[in-house]
Amino acid sequence: MPDADWNDPPQADIAIAGDKIAGIGLDYRIDDARSIEVVDARDHLVLPGFVNAHYHSHDVLAKGTLEEVPLEIWRLYALPPQYPPRSAEEVYARTLLGALECLRSGMTTIQDMLTLYPYEERHMDAVMRAYDEVGIRVVFALQYADRKGIETIPFWKDTFPPELHPLLSTAAEPEYELDLIGHFETTRLKTARPQRVSWALGPSAPERCSPALMRRTVELARRYDIPVYTHIYESRGMALQARLSIPHYSGLLIRRLAEEGVLDERLNFAHSVWLSRAEIDLLAEHDAGVVLNPQGNLKMKCGIAPIRALQDAGLRIGLGCDNCSCSDAQNMFVAMKLFALLAAISDPVPGPPQAVAALRAATEGGAEGARLGDVLGRIAPGFKADLTLIDTRDPTFSPMNSAARQLVHIEAGRGVRHVIVDGKVMVRDRQLTTVSESTIYDAVKVVMPEFRRDFSTISQRVAKLQPWLDRAHRLIMAAELDIDRLPFGGR
Ligand SMILES: [Zn+2]
Repeated sequence: MPDADWNDPPQADIAIAGDKIAGIGLDYRIDDARSIEVVDARDHLVLPGFVNAHYHSHDVLAKGTLEEVPLEIWRLYALPPQYPPRSAEEVYARTLLGALECLRSGMTTIQDMLTLYPYEERHMDAVMRAYDEVGIRVVFALQYADRKGIETIPFWKDTFPPELHPLLSTAAEPEYELDLIGHFETTRLKTARPQRVSWALGPSAPERCSPALMRRTVELARRYDIPVYTHIYESRGMALQARLSIPHYSGLLIRRLAEEGVLDERLNFAHSVWLSRAEIDLLAEHDAGVVLNPQGNLKMKCGIAPIRALQDAGLRIGLGCDNCSCSDAQNMFVAMKLFALLAAISDPVPGPPQAVAALRAATEGGAEGARLGDVLGRIAPGFKADLTLIDTRDPTFSPMNSAARQLVHIEAGRGVRHVIVDGKVMVRDRQLTTVSESTIYDAVKVVMPEFRRDFSTISQRVAKLQPWLDRAHRLIMAAELDIDRLPFGGR
């Protein structure tokens, strides 16, 4: 209930008819008790299901594999060049597992920005089948680009000997044999949507996409009225690269997009850690939004987003948990807590309370970014019945002083008991109802030997590059960057 007191929410019955919330009230009258299912929500908090507004299912199996790896180097693990083709069984198993983790954490919608490289229809079908079977809502985008990674990272080209350059691209890059977006339009955008799936577009990052590709993306987004998700300035190196490569746009990628006419309310910029003041203002002017992923930003030594400046500018803010190989948990409680706490570093002067802001970002903010703000992210009549029930018979909520603050600062996921998507109970008593969880764990076990073998080959390849990677990283960190002088606090 958007207008309710989130610290002291009212007690009410929520009536669901089909996939929607039909009404909210005290002591709802039931005309025909035999035809309804009652989910007893006494001693529970009922939340709009979380929207994980930035997630990639392609490396679910790599959770817990890496530490102390800066972003530029991490990409070589997460999206390596010359990656051996994956089996459809692996793609299916990892998608099931990721969806299971998200649902069990109280997320009812995920934005999967998926790299399928090389693209194979059977992989795409396996992904769609897994999502359908688990029963989670998905805002789905394929990730693509048309510029080589080595061209988009400062100092790499000059630091590495030319014979190593082929090892430095990543798999989100040019798909020469297939017009991926054209294919996506023909096979998906123009056809009937699977239930609980909505489409989006995923240009990997502006510096990895030519102006022509960005233009084509936004034209498609406008034609089909779908959102666009991309990455911006996750690391200091990405901001530095912009300064070095596009001086004619004052070194600012957001200015480039604005002047190319592709910046509008459909765009969602994941990370936004190293945005400059001028770019925050441009985003606000064009009604574009951001999706913050504090967990991964810290794990990969990227820094923290200027949370207070983004809030003060009135930007739409969503929250995500990003890749499993960097975040590593798909856990919105962790994301919300970091969001609320890191606001202190982005501006050390006390500002407005952050717990409700974190909850709004995790629900309404993500829904609005997906262009689904009129049907998702709130508990209100006419909205989709996507609900998460948190058991308050737990030390986390005893005594109950503030539902919002205790959800954000104390709850870590233990309390998620039931999860409803489209009016159906997909998680009941902490167990997935749609697919047997042990079947999922077994399917993962079957594909892990091959995944581990290939991941170890990749790790060995990256290890050989380590001296040059370290040197390039030191150069990035030592280079002067104008943004350091901006008054956003300790990034
Ligand atoms: Zn990402």
